[in-house]
Amino acid sequence: MDYEPVIGLETHAELLTESKLWCRCSTRFGRAPNSQTCPVCLGMPGVLPVLNVKAFELALRAALALNCQLNRTTFFDRKNYYYPDLPKNYQISQNYCNLGVDGHLEIPLDGDVRRVGILNVHLEEDAGKNVHAEHPGADYSLVDLNRAGTPLLEVVTAPDMHSVEEADAFMHTLRQVLLYTQVSDCKMQEGSLRFEASISMRPAGTDGLGARVEIKNLNSMKAVRGALEREIRRQTSLLKSGEAVQQETRLWDEVRERTNRMRTKEEAQDYRYFPEPDLLPVEVTNEMLQRVRESVPELPLQRRRRFCDELGLSEYDATVLCDQKEVGDYFEACLAAHGSPKSIANWIINEVLREVNERKVSMEEFEVPPERLAELVRLTDEGRINANVARDIMTKMIRTGKDAAMLVQEEGVEQISDGAALEPVIEQVIRDNPDTVQDYLGGRKQAVGPLVGQVMKLTRGRADPKLVNQMLREKLDRL
Ligand code: ZN
Ligand code: MN
Repeated sequence: MDYEPVIGLETHAELLTESKLWCRCSTRFGRAPNSQTCPVCLGMPGVLPVLNVKAFELALRAALALNCQLNRTTFFDRKNYYYPDLPKNYQISQNYCNLGVDGHLEIPLDGDVRRVGILNVHLEEDAGKNVHAEHPGADYSLVDLNRAGTPLLEVVTAPDMHSVEEADAFMHTLRQVLLYTQVSDCKMQEGSLRFEASISMRPAGTDGLGARVEIKNLNSMKAVRGALEREIRRQTSLLKSGEAVQQETRLWDEVRERTNRMRTKEEAQDYRYFPEPDLLPVEVTNEMLQRVRESVPELPLQRRRRFCDELGLSEYDATVLCDQKEVGDYFEACLAAHGSPKSIANWIINEVLREVNERKVSMEEFEVPPERLAELVRLTDEGRINANVARDIMTKMIRTGKDAAMLVQEEGVEQISDGAALEPVIEQVIRDNPDTVQDYLGGRKQAVGPLVGQVMKLTRGRADPKLVNQMLREKLDRL
């Protein structure tokens, strides 16, 4: 019998706010331990939380981008548990009335689009961090509460995914949406984006749900993929040998690439949720809803479709340009200055992205502003400079900050597309290379290549190579 996995994902994303969810402490990453704390986020008795409205609006923006139904009046709940990095002994979260419910996210899969259901989207606070001493013989841990109270978005999917590839596509698309909407910086190395997975197996083609295993401690997409692959194998072999899969929670061991049992169903925690008495319900007013709705940008999938349908770009080009919002924005700004989508797309994909990737700079740091790149592409499209010269000019634009037209003039590299001007050079090259010419006349047509090269060399790369090629062939064929 064949089995197929049924996969659901829970994603936690730190929201892109300056300050924490219930106090004014900074959320900046990487500062000295416990330097960004106050009585509220330290969980002192008698303190009161005050909602960070920016965080609430970011969560609302995410709920809208994920096509959720909104609970227009929503409230917070206490999730009670004890852990050293949680000084209050409860996490303020949402359980009974999530901000967003019943949404979906469209993901690209196998050249098609699949819809993954979103059960709920809610707002909660992050815990601190336990730092376990790792030197030999160490028997203690330290607690850093800088992260305690950082606003978190939690996104819970329906058990809708049936392969590791599908889960992977979901994670990538969700990350793209959170970046496009500027809800989170999604820096996985800083813990801004974390996952938990639930997975069960069932006979392929059936509808039932098997015993579910939850996997925690997944701090990267690679970890999710690895854990799912490993768990699919483990559960499948259990089922094939007639054993049952236990409903339990397992932890991913990144180093040994395996999951280990953390707790079984019987040991499952009861969080004794109850409504948070220190916070009032929050109402999403019409004014707030309209403002936040207007702040949701065009999302990557829609943008990709528009680039294909309205601008005639290939699926590949559109996908590359829409991967990061900044690249798509740069492309559109170029397009506003020079309305040639295909040639601008080629330039950005082949030259600009190579340049920024090689030097590991971000699109915002790229030195050539879009209007200037558009001008360079226009000069190339109009045949005023050839492609090789244009690449050289771009390098000089980066280095000097000058514009393309100025550099073309200074360097004297304008393309020679005038047949009359090329004529004497071509004749000279034919005279000076009798062996190659004989080769060509003897039937080896590709011998024209080195002759074109000679003409390019004599014109210092300025000749229009297409025209040179054509003129050379005509002349040789008449010999
Ligand atoms: Zn604080
Ligand atoms: Mn959570």
